[in-house]
Amino acid sequence: MDLNEAVKVLDSVIPEPSNKMVDRAHLDIAVAWKTVKEHLNLGKAEGDQEGICPVCGGELELEDNVQMDDGGVYPWKCPSCGATGKQGYDEVFDGHHYDVRDAGGKPVPGREEEK
Ligand SMILES: [Zn+2]
Repeated sequence: MDLNEAVKVLDSVIPEPSNKMVDRAHLDIAVAWKTVKEHLNLGKAEGDQEGICPVCGGELELEDNVQMDDGGVYPWKCPSCGATGKQGYDEVFDGHHYDVRDAGGKPVPGREEEK
């Protein structure tokens, strides 16, 4: 069974936490499953893509003169919306969670450094 099939099976037996069928004894399970699904969705199409602006979806330009003193973090600028940020490489691209700011220089919510 692959992950998609497993999700379908669980989805068919575990209702949303708001569903009337969910009694108190099973509420934790329904909430836990909802949490798992939300995390799975984060890793899919809506997730970050290398070279794609996390603010507007435009193509990013990597800044010139990249220095590696941050350990695999590359600054970028989005020509479409003016956002700037850094994309991280932990051996491979691992997300736009480094210092993402909009054109006005304000940090983009939910993009704070997590480490
Ligand atoms: Zn952009």
